[in-house]
Amino acid sequence: MPVACAGDLRVTAVLILGGTGEGRRLADQCVGLSGISVVSSLAGRVRSPKVPQGEVRIGGFGGETGFRDWVIGHGIDAVVDATHPFASVMTGTAAKVTGELGIPFVVLRRPGWAEQPGDRWHWVDSVAAAAEALGDETAFLTTGREELKAFAHLPNRFVVRSVDPPEPPMPSNLYTVLDRGPFTVEGERRLMREHAIEVLVTKDSGGDMTSAKLQAARELRLPVIMVRRPPLPDVETVDSVAAAVRWLGTVAG
Ligand code: NAP
Repeated sequence: MPVACAGDLRVTAVLILGGTGEGRRLADQCVGLSGISVVSSLAGRVRSPKVPQGEVRIGGFGGETGFRDWVIGHGIDAVVDATHPFASVMTGTAAKVTGELGIPFVVLRRPGWAEQPGDRWHWVDSVAAAAEALGDETAFLTTGREELKAFAHLPNRFVVRSVDPPEPPMPSNLYTVLDRGPFTVEGERRLMREHAIEVLVTKDSGGDMTSAKLQAARELRLPVIMVRRPPLPDVETVDSVAAAVRWLGTVAG
């Protein structure tokens, strides 16, 4: 149900950098508004992406120059970065280019996960550091298939979950579960038990879609190696789809 982004519009063409549930929900809320066009952009990493309503473009822009040309060429006058919290290259590019062009820009970032009583989290700064922090445990890796190369040299037994099959370089002792969230605590507990998981390795993605594994690890008293988010550039941020819609209302009104 839309939305506060109508009104006396100054902004007429919004680019949503997506690849997340939030990006999809935001696009779904903004399509069909009179006087405003919305284009969602996906990187094209997933073979069958969940596509938002409205216009969608897929694939990289070609770095800063390509992004600038695309934004100017398509008359974009506001950008919402709803990419994943670890998509720091895209966010950096969008922040820089929109700043140079003087285009309203906001980053929509869901809050990170918070440790709870009973958790045994070990925070690290990067996926490479997560690989270094591992001993010889059987590890459940949910850092995404693009990150497997960081673990490729390790002899550990790994269980990896990803939407599409992983590709080399990747660890040799690997069991792959092809699945996409949301996941249940019961399912996560079963998976961890079945595979005799000893440690969970994950990124601080935040959100409800994939948080069941943290509850399961808590219940099974498993340690978690948690990769900290990369820092955000100094830009305006909001933490929910509703807040992004309100932001669009302020720049449009
Ligand atoms: P990244 O490292 O920040 O970006 C690498 C390159 O991918 C960018 O320079 C850009 O290519 C292209 N790109 C990224 N997001 C794009 C978008 N929304 N539209 C068009 N091009 C995009 O990003 P990433 O971590 O590889 O993530 C790629 C996509 O997957 C993002 O859309 C993100 O939301 C989603 N995702 C990422 C993760 C994760 O853990 N990183 C998890 C779930 C979903 P050009 O330089 O050619 O423009």
